[in-house]
Amino acid sequence: MEHETNTFSPVPTPWDSFGPDGPFIGKEVVSAMTGTKTPIGAFLDIANKERAECVTPVSGLALPSGPVDMQAYERFCDLICAEVIKGCDAVFLDLHGAMVVKNGPLDGEGVLLKKLRDINPTLPIAVSLDLHANVTPLMVNNCSVISGYKTYPHIDMYETGQLAGSILIEYLKGRLDPVMVWQNTPILAHTLKMDTQKGAMKDFAMCAKKAERGNVLSASAFGGFPMADIHDAGMSAVVVTNGDKQLAERTCENIIQTAWEKREDFIWTDIPLVDAIRSAKKINKGPVLLVDHADNCASGGTQDTMHVLKEALNQGLTNIGVGPIKDPVSVEIMTKAGIGATVSIDLGGKLNMPAIGKLGEPLKLSGVVKAITDGKYIVSGPQFTGMTMHMGKTVVLKTQHAEIVVTEKLQEPLDVGVFSSVGIDPTKKDYLLLKSRMYFQPVFSPMATDIIYCNGVGVTSSDWTLFKYQNVRRPIYPLDRFD
Ligand SMILES: [Zn+2]
Repeated sequence: MEHETNTFSPVPTPWDSFGPDGPFIGKEVVSAMTGTKTPIGAFLDIANKERAECVTPVSGLALPSGPVDMQAYERFCDLICAEVIKGCDAVFLDLHGAMVVKNGPLDGEGVLLKKLRDINPTLPIAVSLDLHANVTPLMVNNCSVISGYKTYPHIDMYETGQLAGSILIEYLKGRLDPVMVWQNTPILAHTLKMDTQKGAMKDFAMCAKKAERGNVLSASAFGGFPMADIHDAGMSAVVVTNGDKQLAERTCENIIQTAWEKREDFIWTDIPLVDAIRSAKKINKGPVLLVDHADNCASGGTQDTMHVLKEALNQGLTNIGVGPIKDPVSVEIMTKAGIGATVSIDLGGKLNMPAIGKLGEPLKLSGVVKAITDGKYIVSGPQFTGMTMHMGKTVVLKTQHAEIVVTEKLQEPLDVGVFSSVGIDPTKKDYLLLKSRMYFQPVFSPMATDIIYCNGVGVTSSDWTLFKYQNVRRPIYPLDRFD
């Protein structure tokens, strides 16, 4: 049950958004998730290896968006609880850790875990969490083992499932006695500063990784998800040891301390959009990446703000690959017009963003419909390798200066398939405008001559003066001063 909730996002999160046709149910989970490099993939492998009788009530992953519909959340909980009530030896849960429910719990995962422990107070539960989890006491107090991803972009999902799952198996066999400790620190870090290969985040993640030896079974350093306005949003650490509470506390404190000491390095500062595009224009050889990070659907963005493309066109950039823009209305118009037709459309800007006081602003563009596809492609990796992606009906609009991938559904540009599946070779572009903030890196950074971060408009902006925080605990850095 995976969702990263941006409480400032206007994008709805119904049941259907948790998979191509909603979540996978029952045996569908096994066929859809076996062999994937995800925590569930790892859990299924462990169950197989142990020759366990394995029940898979549900599996659903939605892109980050606004708070989850109450009905959808309750359906997840009901499906999982219904199986647990029948009785089982252990539960493996692949959760995100930053789920907020609309008119419901602000800590979706914690409440689910509490429900399971209410059914059976001693039920062994292993949980894998995203590095962006906002870990809460309710989560930690209601399961046996938590392990979090140590990489962002996330390329160790499978390994995280393996770690949490295998500790629980050893516990079931009586060979380990997991003791878990959690601690947070008042830092609301910027997602753009959570790249685990750089700076303070690298040190934070490495500190956890290095701690995992001897009786320290699992150590996780969480960056947290700052755009979920809940009490426990922000950075934290969870440590699981073999029966040694003091060791767990010491290790946890040590990890947390590395974050607090370097707190300034978790804060992102933007340059104005005009200057960013100007510097991109000076680069002679492409593809140059224009990273439109304020409107990233992998953090809850509407994926339809047009400010970066508009500025790029204003300044005369050309041969730009853009994508994807989510605009089902334009997809419909262009599909009706057909391949080869010349169209004039108001692209993007379909959703208003009341939480940041912005209206949707479409961009008027004329061009030729170059391609129409069903939007399906198989990810070549290295993230989500082998999974089939569904962009919905997808159209390429070719204008004089840009080839724009327009989709029916939200789609993070995390794989080359976003372009190659619609006949665009991204390596042949001078500029690639990607509505992304981090997931583009493993695939697109190696082919790029430079990377320019563009501060457009959107609900994933790193300008926190735009967001009115009401629930997060205060004081918290950098919203408040710590002298
Ligand atoms: Zn994440």
